[in-house]
Amino acid sequence: MTDLFDPRHAAHLDEVDALPTRRDQFLIPRHGDGEQAYFVGNSLGLQPRGARAHVEEVLDAWATRAVEGHFTGEAQWMTYHTLVREQLGRLVGARPSEVVAMNTLTTNLHLMMVSFYRPTAERPAIMIEAGAFPSDRHAVESQIRFHGFDPDTDLIEVAPDEPNGTLSMSAIEAAIREHGHRLALVLWPGIQYRTGQFFDLPAIVRLAHAHGARCGFDLAHAVGNRELALHDSGVDFAVWCHYKYLNSGPGAVAGCFVHEKHADADLPRFAGWWGHEPATRFLMAPEFKPTPGAEGWQLSNPPILGLAPLRASLELFDEVGMDALRAKSLRLTGYLEALIHERLADVLQVVTPAEPERRGCQLSLRVAGGRDRGRALFEYLAAHGVLGDWREPDVIRISPAPLYNTHADVLRFARTVEAWRDAA
Ligand SMILES: *Cc1c(COP(=O)(O)O)cnc(C)c1O
Repeated sequence: MTDLFDPRHAAHLDEVDALPTRRDQFLIPRHGDGEQAYFVGNSLGLQPRGARAHVEEVLDAWATRAVEGHFTGEAQWMTYHTLVREQLGRLVGARPSEVVAMNTLTTNLHLMMVSFYRPTAERPAIMIEAGAFPSDRHAVESQIRFHGFDPDTDLIEVAPDEPNGTLSMSAIEAAIREHGHRLALVLWPGIQYRTGQFFDLPAIVRLAHAHGARCGFDLAHAVGNRELALHDSGVDFAVWCHYKYLNSGPGAVAGCFVHEKHADADLPRFAGWWGHEPATRFLMAPEFKPTPGAEGWQLSNPPILGLAPLRASLELFDEVGMDALRAKSLRLTGYLEALIHERLADVLQVVTPAEPERRGCQLSLRVAGGRDRGRALFEYLAAHGVLGDWREPDVIRISPAPLYNTHADVLRFARTVEAWRDAA
């Protein structure tokens, strides 16, 4: 029988994998004489080797052509955001006109709520999951107050109903049924950051729309991790960041999706000159004429240096494709799960749903014995070059990213946990 814990087995899995690793196209942080096993791509993805050239290109253009860089050269700044438009669309299952790279995630969430959260006395409420990422909750709560409504009654939070703190579709359905008549907006994560649970986006959209609510998604942990079909799913809007699975660097320019059905709609919005149609933008006229589609929500001319690394990242995603990447992700995360079940079940409880369809790369692992023991294991792993991340009160998140993590990385995690347990 195959020994899953045999390094030769992991090496063999890497060798025969249908999608050879792109690890050599990334800069892998060092640990001692070797490399880290880096599982924190859900927090800050690694630097693609191609990023530096794109950043230097911008610096060079600035140095040599200064203001002319706006309208000369292949990657001129005036239209720089359009360089990523088609690839970004393919990544999230959208038409190019439905996506734009701009701002940062929470900023985009606010801009989208300005347009898509239109509360009335009869329909003032927003529905989110209980335990939402704090920034999302702050944004939603402040929007409710901004419109003169009361989060105590108008922020509806759906509590997890499954033993590990995950949410069943039937709980979501029951909540939307119960509160549907008061809902202006359902805002949901693609993947829950703490548990790693992936949701059925089309089903949530159908439910929200059936009850007369708009439906938007925060895809921070889903983009570049799961296949998405935003256009076909009828999602009204979505926002995400590019520094997690998209490997575009700290504080990278974020992403935003607005469904084509809203492209020409006369939605209220907070406007800025970069959202004005390009043909007449520089006539500098006082009235605002939005660019049709997602680009009409832009405010400012974008931070070109912040956008540059995204080009390198999207080139890789586009070359590999989300389907092949997801297939590899299933193999890597499946291997991680198998290793835990085989020998580590007394130490680690998998919080993330067991059905591969209901998760992405990440497994959230609760350490037996409580918080102190969890912290001790987390620190032991880090000291041995195995980097996951810690989420209070007792969860270690491990996210094998299929572009650069390998079966050997995954085995290294499992063997380090084993060594820690056996030494205790
Ligand atoms: C990472 C993350 C954020 C971060 O927001 P920024 O505006 O990029 O700082 C927000 N929400 C969720 C769900 C996240 O996972």
